[in-house]
Amino acid sequence: MTLDDRALRVALAAKGFMPEDEGLVLHRAGQAAGAVGALLEVGSYCGKSAVYLGTAARSAGTVLFTVDHHHGSEENQAGWEHHDPDVVDLATGRIDTLPFLRRTIEDAGLEDCVVTVVGESVTVARYWGTDLGLLFIDGGHALDVAMADYLAWCPFVMQGGLLAIHDVFEDPAAGGQAPFEVWQRAVADGFRPMSTTGSLRILQR
Ligand code: SAH
Ligand code: MG
Repeated sequence: MTLDDRALRVALAAKGFMPEDEGLVLHRAGQAAGAVGALLEVGSYCGKSAVYLGTAARSAGTVLFTVDHHHGSEENQAGWEHHDPDVVDLATGRIDTLPFLRRTIEDAGLEDCVVTVVGESVTVARYWGTDLGLLFIDGGHALDVAMADYLAWCPFVMQGGLLAIHDVFEDPAAGGQAPFEVWQRAVADGFRPMSTTGSLRILQR
């Protein structure tokens, strides 16, 4: 385990939606996949999962790219389930999680191995060119958005590389179905299911 105490403390304190057990599984997946290629996550939010993956990237000798427009998903907006008024920029009235992400990465000592990419996921993917050892999909959870992320980014996952999908709920009563539909699509496309930890699913190409 290369997740040092300082980084783990920062991960646990960061705002976000990643339980510790799932974060540790993500960390180990990133460590293994870092030998195959760079790590990339769609959906940085305030950097909680980026600490688990960034420390993995460091120990594997690669980097984590973390992609987000930082204006929040539908479910983060005011009136929705996952809204946090603290991340609203008072000058604009819009969510802006970028300052929180930068603070998290700095506090965790990860500025040399986490590269922040600010932009709309599919737009960034359209101009992307780097091979990935691990792709973590945790962006918008509407079906069209989540599927678009998968379709845009999965071509960059190398043979032997890993695909991680968050918030996968097989039971509709437990949560939204879009990530589960993405998982099913990935299986149909030939990704091999490796593990399930809470709502985190890992597959291998
Ligand atoms: N991975 C984070 C949580 C991500 S929350 C953690 O575990 O801590 C989902 C994030 O996806 C939000 O910050 C939102 O701004 C971002 N997002 C949603 N749709 C997006 C899109 N189309 N392009 C870029 N970012 C997007
Ligand atoms: Mg999530």
